[in-house]
Amino acid sequence: MIIVSACLAGYRCRYDGACKTDPEIVDLIKRGEAIPACPEMLGGLPCPRVPSERTPDGTRVVTKDGGDVTEAFRRGAVETLRLAKLYGCDRAILKSRSPSCGKGMIYNGAFSGTLRAGNGVTTDLLSENGIMVETKD
Ligand code: SF4
Repeated sequence: MIIVSACLAGYRCRYDGACKTDPEIVDLIKRGEAIPACPEMLGGLPCPRVPSERTPDGTRVVTKDGGDVTEAFRRGAVETLRLAKLYGCDRAILKSRSPSCGKGMIYNGAFSGTLRAGNGVTTDLLSENGIMVETKD
């Protein structure tokens, strides 16, 4: 089984209430080979919500209007890992550049559209627990 970002599966769970449907991910779900999860909503954040970015040192997640959503992001990562274990997932396909789901490059915390090297909070936790993470745009 593969755990996938819910927004790639067609769920309208992004910060702006939109989705990023990817036909390949939808097919995986239709075939019963993938389970969708949105870490930010599993962490208790609403939809739509104020956009968030990880700080450059990776210790916090902040919103564009100055809030701190670090705990919600951590909760969402833990819940996503719990689901992944429940379904026996050893792979994840997540949404690129997200402060939760990104891998390799994420936005730099300045809300300027600039990327930096790094992973999302959920990607870090899944990787630390032996789940192979890849991302899609
Ligand atoms: Fe949810 Fe991850 Fe998609 Fe953001 S990128 S909407 S946290 S599934």
